Amino acid sequence: MATAGKVIKCKAAVAWEPNKPLVMEEIEVAPPQANEVRIKVVATGVCHTDLYHLFEGMHKDGFPAVLGHEGAGIVESVGPGVTEFQPGDKVIPLFISQCKECRFCKSPKTNQCEKGWAADRHDVMSDKDTRFTCKGKKILQFMGTSTFSEYTVVNQMAVAKIDPAAPLDKVCLLGCGVCTGYGAAVNTAKVEEGSTCAVFGLGAVGLAAVMGCKNAGAKRIIAVDINPDKFEKAKVFGANEFVNPKDHDKPISQVLSEMTNGGVDYSLECVGNVGVMRSALESTIKGWGVSVLVGWTDMYDFSARPIQLIAGRTWKGSLFGGFKSKDGVPEMVKDYLNKKVKLDEFITHKMALNQVNDAIELMKHGKCIRTVLSVSSA
Ligand code: NAD
Ligand code: ZN
Repeated sequence: MATAGKVIKCKAAVAWEPNKPLVMEEIEVAPPQANEVRIKVVATGVCHTDLYHLFEGMHKDGFPAVLGHEGAGIVESVGPGVTEFQPGDKVIPLFISQCKECRFCKSPKTNQCEKGWAADRHDVMSDKDTRFTCKGKKILQFMGTSTFSEYTVVNQMAVAKIDPAAPLDKVCLLGCGVCTGYGAAVNTAKVEEGSTCAVFGLGAVGLAAVMGCKNAGAKRIIAVDINPDKFEKAKVFGANEFVNPKDHDKPISQVLSEMTNGGVDYSLECVGNVGVMRSALESTIKGWGVSVLVGWTDMYDFSARPIQLIAGRTWKGSLFGGFKSKDGVPEMVKDYLNKKVKLDEFITHKMALNQVNDAIELMKHGKCIRTVLSVSSA
């Protein structure tokens, strides 16, 4: 490859500061160092976690950064020590690594990995680890991936090699939202056949959770959202009952409890709101109800009455749907190619990278499920 070993100048959408539109800039992307892979990003989804960092999370030291963590691309070149990947491989960059050596990777109980950048923090890579510069400044890599850039550099323990037949403008959604929601139902909640489930929040993450409940054989899948425009889509993924909390004067947990003779077997919070997290817990049945936190926030404490748990409910959280990232993503790509999981139905808008601010506005106003941005031609 003509570019191997050289700095690549390319386009990226840079978040210079919180609460401001992203700016298209020319950035420099350094060659991959030992154990790193440089990827030409072909397509990326826009996930609510990108908006969270830009508008809500706001760690002062989290900017300037290139956002985007739901991408797919092609290996451009590899650094010393990389044997698993070659230029031309189709890949998905992963925001959690799987080193396959640490005690977490060796345990079947978790997908947390001790070695990746994310072991220290969950938003941006450190100055030292990022491979981006722009106008003489270091630009941080959001969630270690930064897919709102034509090229990015990722450690090989955070890259999944996928089936060469996979369409990158679809499977990019497996880099975050779809694996997250689907796995939260299948791997974390371990939804059982014949069960009753409630999914709170019907963005891509919640809709993927609905699909997970459906594929696990749930009988009743109750979709809950304050935006009733989302219910039609939820039907496509398998929801069969729909509740808008705004239509009721009583707490939503009471509404669900009355609908289900005491509560649902499983609930999944896919909003990122601590109040909704409590409602989701309180909507589950005593004795065996399981509630899973999927929505993202680290700004507020949550609370619940201890008796809710003493009475036999379980409260769990799920990062990336509990999938061991390098192993799980290629399997999900196969499941898409074999038509076991849907992806096309999540995509409501397609745009170019330079329209990223429009895509962000759509999500902010609940007008899309997923916008897929085409970043560079394959
Ligand atoms: P989204 O904005 O597309 O969807 C959120 C949905 O929640 C919207 O449909 C909105 O109308 C609905 N909602 C808002 N308030 C509600 C309420 N009070 N009750 C019911 N529904 C309500 O977002 P998304 O991309 O699907 O992401 C959902 C959440 O998952 C975000 O918090 C995101 O940060 C998080 N997330 C977590 C992980 C993880 O690994 N745990 C990974 C990706 C995303
Ligand atoms: Zn995400």
